[in-house]
Amino acid sequence: MMKFSLVITVLLPLIAFAQDSVDLELAVEKTSISLKLTGDAGGSWTVQRSEDLKTWINLAGNEAIEIPQSGVAETVVSVGDAKESYFQAVSADPGSSLPLVYQLFDDSLEIYQDGDFIVIETTNVPNHPSPYFSNSDSRFEAYNGTNPNFRINPNRIETQTMVYRIPINPTEANNKTNTRLGSIGIAVNGVAFFNQYAGPNNQPLTSEVDSFDQYNGHPQNSGVYHYHFEPIYLTGNNGRGSFVGVLLDGFPVYGPEENGEILTSEDLDEYHGHFGPTPEHPEGIYHYHFTDDLPYLNGGQYFGTPGTQTN
Ligand SMILES: [Zn+2]
Ligand SMILES: [Zn+2]
Repeated sequence: MMKFSLVITVLLPLIAFAQDSVDLELAVEKTSISLKLTGDAGGSWTVQRSEDLKTWINLAGNEAIEIPQSGVAETVVSVGDAKESYFQAVSADPGSSLPLVYQLFDDSLEIYQDGDFIVIETTNVPNHPSPYFSNSDSRFEAYNGTNPNFRINPNRIETQTMVYRIPINPTEANNKTNTRLGSIGIAVNGVAFFNQYAGPNNQPLTSEVDSFDQYNGHPQNSGVYHYHFEPIYLTGNNGRGSFVGVLLDGFPVYGPEENGEILTSEDLDEYHGHFGPTPEHPEGIYHYHFTDDLPYLNGGQYFGTPGTQTN
């Protein structure tokens, strides 16, 4: 069942906007808007309007719109004057109240809310091929990347049982916490993010880099596959500026591109992030970026208070 909410910016003339399994089309008349929702039959949606992205008002007389067997629901609602507004369809299905970024994680992951935390359970196995699967595994793919110095390390990908507990409402920490060796966050495909160091004693990654596979990942000695660098399987599929995961403090992580430019660490603060609008948070949120230069993902401390990751 579809669990997205989505935000549509309507700057007349209309911009149509689609997400995975629901599509909201709007046609503006003088004082009304025709809504056309296309999606999974049985899905239930509330359409909301905002002029400032802060206050959202339900359209269609507060009624949820159920998508019939045909997969298309159409209705006309009165909106007063049709000035510049934002519209979003919010799932009215029970149990679909996860924040938008968590709805973008792979369906194979177990994700739920537990009090003030989002819990994510993952096997940490990448959803893309790698030379770090065993040769007999169908997901094995010999190295075909661009690094002439690539040398495979002796470790192989192993299925893990990893549980993340991440603050659902991230806020800046008064006292910042150092990142650690091991997982500091999770990508949308369930793979761990690691910081800019190699063990022990926070060595630079210099020698590790040559063992990164064609998707910038590699496994450590207990088979935990991880990314220190931009997860290029994800940004290759979704765009270099796309949402790629969250750090343990709950703040989102994006690829290096923003507004058509490739960011470097100079564009970011000491934690390797900044405040600003993102596609999932048009109202603005603190967020991290991967960059091609050091420290790649995080400056050594979390901006917020980290949750936990246990095996
Ligand atoms: Zn590593
Ligand atoms: Zn940014």
